[in-house]
Order: sequence, then structure tokens, then C-alpha cells
Amino acid sequence: MTPNEITIGADGFYHPASEEELIALVKKANQEGLLLRVRGSVHSVACAIYTDPCTEDENHVEKQTPPDTDNLNVMLDQYRTFRVVDQEQMLVEADAGINLGIDPSDPTHTSTLENSLLYQLWNDYGWTLSDLGGITHQTVSGFVSTGSSGGSLTYSINENLYAFRMIDGEGNVYEVSREDTSPDEFNAVALSMGLLGVISKITFKCIPTFNISGQEAITTYDEALVDLFGNGSAERPSFETFLTDVEYTRLVWWPQRGGERIIVWQCQRIAPQYGFRPVHYQEFGNYPEISEVAISIFYTIIGNLDDLSAAKPKLEESFDQLEGVLQLFLEKKEDLGEFGKIMADVLTKALEFGVDAAITLLIPLAPIIKALLPDIFPIVLGIFMPLDSTKKGMQKGEPQSFRDYGWHGLPMDGQASDTLVPTEFTEIWLPIGRTEEVMNILNNYFTEPKSKHEALRRTGTYAWELYGAGPTDIWMSPSYSNGNDEWKDGVFRIDPYWFAGNAGNPAEVFYPQLWDLLRQNNIPYRLHWGKYQPIVTEGDPDGWVAFFKSQYEKWDDFLAKRAEKDPNNIFLTDYWRNRFGLWDMPKPSPKS
Ligand SMILES: Cc1cc2nc3c(=O)[nH]c(=O)nc-3n(C[C@H](O)[C@H](O)[C@H](O)COP(=O)(O)OP(=O)(O)OC[C@H]3O[C@@H](n4cnc5c(N)ncnc54)[C@H](O)[C@@H]3O)c2cc1C
Repeated sequence: MTPNEITIGADGFYHPASEEELIALVKKANQEGLLLRVRGSVHSVACAIYTDPCTEDENHVEKQTPPDTDNLNVMLDQYRTFRVVDQEQMLVEADAGINLGIDPSDPTHTSTLENSLLYQLWNDYGWTLSDLGGITHQTVSGFVSTGSSGGSLTYSINENLYAFRMIDGEGNVYEVSREDTSPDEFNAVALSMGLLGVISKITFKCIPTFNISGQEAITTYDEALVDLFGNGSAERPSFETFLTDVEYTRLVWWPQRGGERIIVWQCQRIAPQYGFRPVHYQEFGNYPEISEVAISIFYTIIGNLDDLSAAKPKLEESFDQLEGVLQLFLEKKEDLGEFGKIMADVLTKALEFGVDAAITLLIPLAPIIKALLPDIFPIVLGIFMPLDSTKKGMQKGEPQSFRDYGWHGLPMDGQASDTLVPTEFTEIWLPIGRTEEVMNILNNYFTEPKSKHEALRRTGTYAWELYGAGPTDIWMSPSYSNGNDEWKDGVFRIDPYWFAGNAGNPAEVFYPQLWDLLRQNNIPYRLHWGKYQPIVTEGDPDGWVAFFKSQYEKWDDFLAKRAEKDPNNIFLTDYWRNRFGLWDMPKPSPKS
């Protein structure tokens, strides 16, 4: 196959169907002096995925279209099968484009549950992977390329990574394996952000399938199973101990003044049994059917109070369900006071006269909503995220119990819609021994302002996910440890959510406060590679490149490997130049 035989799709992506075609594309980029990047299911920020040009305004999660460019953006929707290569060792070689589960936003509509890796492993072989993230929409190569991880210090998908088949920047295939005499190349490649070549195939060492049994409790801080800010007691473990001891867990913290609560989700493995009947975890409290639409409308309005015309598409999109949302607001009108009345009027107007009329009604009310927000937010939270002790028919503090197949139940956010409540993130990973110190830094930061508006600005209006991950020897993993350092017992992860429909770029208007707070308090930390990172410009005026370089022992080794595997810099976009301070590297040039 010659490079010119592969044509670009109408969607702006190249869609190779074999490794041979992938190699031809890499050769084309190298020969023509173009950038090449591969997308997975685009759950990372866009600039971490696509070729240049990618601007900060376009740097969103779930951006399905590639930039308008001659550079090569590749999608692997036609390269997603797998094969068992060693039955006894449970070794499975997966093509890079296979999704872990179904990707509901796949623009080609070819991702299904049935062609996903996890489903087939479970259904056909009784095998699975050791841990999964909160969703399984991702492709295997996208998940691994950013070092994604579930909430467990006991298990990790890293233990399933066995070998990689890569295509370097000149189109040569190379392979790395756990069995190599030196572990270096494997540990460099196993998290490489697309910078050490295109992943063609990943070999996983699977484990026998397991089921899980767990519970979730929504409580006040004092009633939580975990001592969130202290060093624990006989009755309640410290947060660090809890993260270390529980097999799988994640906490969702709502720190907003007046609404303070914590959701503790936890589970452990149980053996698969004949006749097992799952009882699925229910993510959206008292109103599962309408919650997401109502939350989506609420967030869109409060996130765009300076320009409410931005709320129009969201209201239009949810028009069919507005009646249900209106009923909910009518039911809660008393609790919500003036805001309840405003919402009921606006929704009634939308239903009677259309969305434009509703927006016209809403615009002059924006200052009132702004003024009321710190008081109404806790009430809204109480409606959608009720404390267990307030739920109908529940005993005080009675948690939700669930049991499920591991591959289906571990991704606890699988029910959340990518489109109704699109969520973006930054994610801090720090040594687990700092958990108590950092929880107190954050809590003080949230509670210290006298002004309730300032307090809400600091917490934001969305949740903070808290979880952990074990240590690893994968060089660029944010939980990398050499075994003797402060990272050796694993990491505590802080993941503040950002509603993607809010006005503004969170890397400018929300996340800097957190990044700066921890840096000022001399907390060592690293950031998830697929989520928001500080905006860096040439010359590193804010010292972010220097800061992160100081956090990664293998930073220079990784960059040396990058230069060796991609001598023409065809994978090195501006975004990645900025992350690593590689401004002096030449742009790709045509090679014969
Ligand atoms: C709703 C949501 C929930 C999430 N939950 C979690 C979670 O629980 N835990 C967690 O750690 N993270 C989580 N993430 C982050 C997510 O796991 C990462 O962003 C992951 O990288 C996305 O995988 P993807 O298939 O979408 O890859 P993409 O985002 O499309 O790509 C990720 C990177 O991999 C590169 N890449 C992809 N394929 C190849 C290839 N074949 N060769 C070379 N490079 C390649 C891309 O260029 C890019 O740099 C979540 C994100 C969202 C939006």
C-alpha cells in the first residue's frame, strides 16, 4: 500500500482498516512533513488529541470534529477487533480502536456493546480487566495513552497491560512487552500520549471475571463512614486508610455552603455465582427519569447568567421533557421560593410560547437569580442529591446497595449522559500520605470567605470527585513511584467537575485557583494527562513546565525516548510542545 492510496473521509478523519494502512498514513505524514494524531472516543480535552491548529476556545472534551487542516487526524472505527493469543495465560491482543464498552457518542454509530472489548471478554470467555474508570466509552488506546484509571489502590488496569505494538514516527513497527529484559521501553510506552508513536495493538493479560457487591451512602460530613478531615478513630477510618483498604471506591464531595454532603460509593469483588441477578446502582436519586434534564437546564441557566441566549439550544434540545421538569419545579416551588416561581414561569412560557419567549422573560431576571444563587443552590442540591436520611422510606443513613457484574458495575457513571450533563475536568494526583493535609487546605479555602458569593465562586456549582490509584513504574503516570519516594503508597486524586455548558474556559476561570492553591502550599502533585492543565505559553512565564518537570523523575528520559521514536516530530503538536517546553523542536519537514 502506498501512502497516497488512503483517502480522507468526508468527516475530515482518515479511517484505516488495518495496520498496513496505519503505517502508510504515518509514512505519508513523515514524507509530506505533516502532523499526525489518532483520536480515541475524544473524552480527553481536544488539544491533547488532535493535530494543530487547536486553540484554547476549541479545547473541549467530546469535540467530535478534527481541525480544518492538511495534517492527518485518524479515527480507528474500522480497526477494532481482538484475538486471543494465549488461552492459558489469558492474553488478548486488541486493535487500538476497540472501545472498552459502548461509546454512545461515536459519530460513526458503529460502536456497540456487542463489539466492545469488555462485553465480548465477559460473554465469550469469562474474562475481564482488573479495574475500570467511571465510564467505559473510551477506546483501549485512548484510555491507556493518558494513564486513565479507576478508583482503587488494590487493583489497576496497569496490571493487565502486557505488550504494545507501536508504529514509530518513520513508519517502523516496534514492540515492547513486560517480558523484555529491560523494563524501560515498556514503562515509557505504556503511557505515551501519542508521542512515542501510534499504538497499533495492545496485548492485555486478562483475569477471570468477577462480580461486585457494594453500597453508596449520601450523608453529611459528620455522618460519613469516613473521617474526611481528621486522622480517623476506632469507629471511622481516616480518609487515607479508607482509600487504601477498600477495594474500589470513589467519593463525590459537594462542598457548597449550606448543602455540604458527601457521597461514598464503595464495593468489593465477589465470586460469580450461577443464577446471579444484578441489582444495578442507581445514580440519580429520587427522580432518575427527569433529574438529568432538570440539572442540565438548571446548570445551563446559572452557568450563563451574563448571556442567557446561550441557554436557548439547551432548552430547545430538552423541549420534549420540559413538561416533566416543570412538574418537578412546581412540586418544589415552595422550597425554592422566588427562584421556584421564576423557573415555573419560565418553563410555562417555554411550553406555551416557545423557547425564545422564555429567554426574553428570563433575561431581566438574571440579576435576581445571581443574588439568590448561594441560597438556592443548597436547596436544589437537596432535591437532586438528597441525603439518605431524608429519602422517603429510608432509615436514617441507610445506603443504597447494589450488586453487579464487575465490568458493568465498576463504571458507576455509565448511566450519566454525555450530552445532557457534559462534564469536564482537571485531576490532581498527589501522594496519598498528604490526603488529610490537602482535605483541610481545601475545606479551609471553601469555608473561610465571609461572603457566600465568594464561597460559591470557590467551590463552583458542581461536585468534586475524590478517589485514589496505586503506585506504578510507568514513567509518565501521575502515580509513578520509584518505590522509595513519597509516592510509593499510591495517590489521592481530586477531580473538580465543570459543567461544559458554562460560559468561559475552566482553565482560565475556575481551575487556576486550585492549581495555585496547592502549589502555594508546597503540595507535590501531577495532573491527569487527558484533562485540563494550566495554559502554558512559550517561555513558561508561570513556571508550570518547570513545576511538572520537577514532579516526574523520568521526564527527561521520556523526552529522550520521544526524540528517538519521532525524529521528525510528526506527533508533536503545539499543545504537547507547551506541556513539555519543547518550543525549540523543529516542525515536521518533508522527508524522502
Ligand atoms: C465523562 C468522562 C469520564 C471519565 N472518567 C474517567 C475515570 O474514571 N478515570 C480516568 O482516569 N479518566 C477518566 N476520564 C478521562 C478519560 O479516560 C481520558 O480522557 C481518556 O484518555 C479518554 O480515552 P479516549 O478513548 O476518549 O481517547 P482520546 O481522548 O480520544 O485520546 C486520548 C489520547 O490518546 C491518544 N491516542 C488515542 N488513540 C491512540 C493511538 N492508537 N495511538 C496513539 N495515540 C492515541 C490521543 O491522541 C490522545 O492524546 C473521563 C472522561 C470523561 C469525559
